[in-house]
Order: sequence, then structure tokens, then C-alpha cells
Amino acid sequence: MLLPIFAPVMANENKLQNIIAHCKEYGFIFQSSEIYDGLQAVYDYGQYGSELKKNIRDYWWKSMTQMNDNIVGIDAAIFMHPTVWKASGHVDNFSDPMIDNKDSNKRYRVDHLLEAHAETLPKEEGDALLAEMDTLLAADDFAGLKQLIEDNKIKCGISGTGNWTDVRQFNLMFSTEMGSVAGEADVVYLRPETAQGIFVNFLNVQKTGRMKIPFGIAQTGKAFRNEIVARGFIFRMREFEQMEMQFFVRPGTQKEWYEHWKETRMKWHLSLGISPDRYRFHDHVKLAHYADAACDIEYDFPMGFKEVEGVHSRTDFDLKNHQQYSGKKLTYFDTELNQHYIPYVIETSIGLDRTVMMILSEAYQEEDLSTAEKQDSRVVLKFPPMLAPIKLAVLPLLKKDGLPEIARELMNECRSEFRCFYEEKDTIGKRYRRMDAIGTPFCVTIDHQTKEDQTVTIRHRDSMQQERIPISSVKKLVLDKTRAF
Ligand code: ATP
Repeated sequence: MLLPIFAPVMANENKLQNIIAHCKEYGFIFQSSEIYDGLQAVYDYGQYGSELKKNIRDYWWKSMTQMNDNIVGIDAAIFMHPTVWKASGHVDNFSDPMIDNKDSNKRYRVDHLLEAHAETLPKEEGDALLAEMDTLLAADDFAGLKQLIEDNKIKCGISGTGNWTDVRQFNLMFSTEMGSVAGEADVVYLRPETAQGIFVNFLNVQKTGRMKIPFGIAQTGKAFRNEIVARGFIFRMREFEQMEMQFFVRPGTQKEWYEHWKETRMKWHLSLGISPDRYRFHDHVKLAHYADAACDIEYDFPMGFKEVEGVHSRTDFDLKNHQQYSGKKLTYFDTELNQHYIPYVIETSIGLDRTVMMILSEAYQEEDLSTAEKQDSRVVLKFPPMLAPIKLAVLPLLKKDGLPEIARELMNECRSEFRCFYEEKDTIGKRYRRMDAIGTPFCVTIDHQTKEDQTVTIRHRDSMQQERIPISSVKKLVLDKTRAF
């Protein structure tokens, strides 16, 4: 057997562009409404992308709910009573400081503008600039932020000028109207986070599930933000999906639970087979209006270390405010302490689309397989097998001699357990390459020997090693290697 030499053949700066092109070519991710030239920062998942996304969602869901007795899941509606967003602080506070260039009319998020500039500076200078920015952001010092942009002579990428407006806050929530009579309708918001659906159901779940503190409520679902600078493929979208869990604890114990969830979530990331040096924690200096501690888990994306998940100690801010705005009691009776209180909350909040992008970035590899005799290469997505869109490809060597029938039988045996793919066109080599490109961990070839001794060739995606195994053992082997728990 020929052992391939794996050699990366791709400059890092091209990696993101290559991944975007690959996702389109192989049915993972398309731009929304592409035939109308697309809608900015909105994407559709294709046949393989939606399977990958679903597998990641399922893995998160099971890790959170099935694997923890004291965490249950819900599925709250996207539309919520408008007062929810008053109580949560989103109507007044869910905004980012923005600045416009007067010549191009292009709007920028102030922190993004300064961060991009810091990257062009020598490390020490860049770090000093970011530290100054953090201090000004923490103080809501908008005049100071504008001065910092001017002092650094930062120019607009489009007009090339430094002719800036003042720094202003810009609310990121989308709104629409509910009701049939124009003018009399109520304004409702598309939720900017899934968390509030959990808070307003806190007592419903606690009472009906007879939950005892500490306990958690998990939810996955769409969220919407009118991001001003939406770029980086599916990293920053206007419509995206979140996977959030709110963990309700006794007041005073939030610090230890915060540390617990930081560690637990990092373990989850490492369980995806990603090396620890691809992650780092970033502790927040400027805390959100609801938090007493917060950090981001950052992953080393093709464009550098960026947030994939947040762990936030949200105090009792949300429940307390919902109690005040709704006039309904949202306290919990702790039988051990014989006391009523509003629980404190630790939140873990991860973007599903950002996780898809993380998994794609990690999995995407261009390999040079050239030997002395011939030039060769492949693009392979080395997904963790449990996340792969297709687990098994069943490939009859020829379209005749009864081989397709045997292949179909194997498909029928396996399809209820995991996603299989049948293909009989083209040479086996080409079919293997197509399966590599969508990250299928196992390919099984049915040939004439199968008819004689009921064995098949199974090919392993990452090593490209092939071995002969009984056809009767295929299902169990694939199940064992692709199971998450
Ligand atoms: P950022 O600083 O990148 O805007 P954030 O701190 O506002 O993110 P959170 O409000 O903590 O993000 O949301 C939790 C998670 O939701 C983020 O870690 C991210 O994975 C995801 N997320 C937030 N905004 C977007 C977006 N516009 N597109 C895709 N995912 C997003």
C-alpha cells in the first residue's frame, strides 16, 4: 500500500476564500437569494451543510440535556411580548458604538475599526491601542473614541479619508408589526438572543419539571441582529442560530458555577478533537449591563482568534427585571435554606453557525499526494466522524453483475441508523475524492470478491487506508466509530 505524504499546500490568507468556494461547490452553504444577487450576511445551508449543522446542534443538545440530569430543554417562540425587550434592557442598551465616514457614508463599528488598525501596528503598539480602546469603551467615552480614531489617522477603506462623524449608539434589533390593522399594530421584535425565552419560562419549567436549584434550561434557535459590519462569511450574520443554556444557582454561588461552566464548555470544545492551542479565553473588561463576570471562548479562525462562545455570569438581572415589568413573582423557594429568592444565572451561549465555521476551518485540508511517479492532490474535510453529514458511502465497483443489488441491500440495512450515500457512476478513485470533499469518513466498495466471500473493501477517509472486512460487520463498525457518546 502506498502511504501518502500529507503536505498542506495552502497559504493561510487564502484559506477562508477556499473554504467559502468549497462550501458552495459541494452543497454546504449558499448565499441567500443568490439568483437575486444575494442578501448581505444571510446564508442558506445546502444538503450537506444542513446535515453538518444538525449534527452539531444534536451533539450540543445531547451534551447539555441528555448527559445532565439537571438540565432540560425548551423551544420558545421567536416573537415575544414587546415588554420582554424593555425588561431585558435590549430596547435601551442593545447597541454598538458606530462611526460614519462622511465622504463614503460607510458606517463602521468603532471597536472593529480600531482592532483592524491595531493589527497593522507592531505588537506592543497594537496592544496599547486596544487597551486604551477598552478603557474608553468601558467608560462610554464616545468623544475619546473619536479622538483615538483621529489620533491614529485611521481612514475609511472606501473613501480613503479620515472625515468622521461623531461616535453614536446604534440599536441592533429588527422590528416588525403584529396585528392586522395597519397603524394599530404592536411593534414586535425578532429576538436578538434566545435567552429571554428561557427567562420568561423559568417558573413554568421549574414548577412543571419540579426542578431543584441548581438546574439549567437549554434552547437552540434563530436569533436576529441588524449587524452593521456583517462580514467573515457565516461568522457574523444578520440571521443566525444560537445554542444557549441558562443555569440557575443560589445567590452567592455564582462565581464557582461560572468557573465550572468555563471549564465544562472548554472540555466540550476539546471533545471535538480540536487541539487546545487553537483556543483561548478572553476575559471581558467592559461587562454587559447584566453581568458580574464574562469571558469569550475564542477559536483561531482563518482570520485569527475570534469569539465562538460566551460564558456569562448574568446575576439576577433578567429575572428581577421580568418580575418588576410583569408584576409576576419569579422567586424560587429553596427548601434547604427555607428561603425565597431570585436565582442567579450563569449562561453559556454559543453560535451554531460560528461552530459550523469552526468545524469547517478545522476540517478543511488541501493535501499534496504526489509521488515520484505522479502528481496528485485532494481536498478533504476531516470532520469528527460523529459530525460528518454522510457517515457511509456504498459504492458498487460496476453497474452490473449483481453488485448494485448487494450495495442496495447494505444501504437498506444501514440507512435507519445513519446517513448513507449510494453512488455507482465514475471510477472508484473519483467517487472516493467526492466523498473526501464532503467529509464522509467511510466508503465501502462492493466488488466481485464480495459475491464469493461476503467481504468488502472499507476505505478510511483520513489515512486513505483500505482493508477487507465482512459485509456483515460494516454497520456495527460505522456505528461504533461515528457515535458521539
Ligand atoms: P460579537 O462580539 O462577535 O458580536 P457577541 O458578544 O455580541 O458577539 P453574544 O451576544 O455573546 O455575542 O452571543 C453569543 C454567541 O452568538 C456568540 O459567541 C456567537 O457565537 C453568536 N453570535 C452572536 N452574534 C452573531 C452573528 N451576528 N452571527 C453569527 N453568530 C453570532
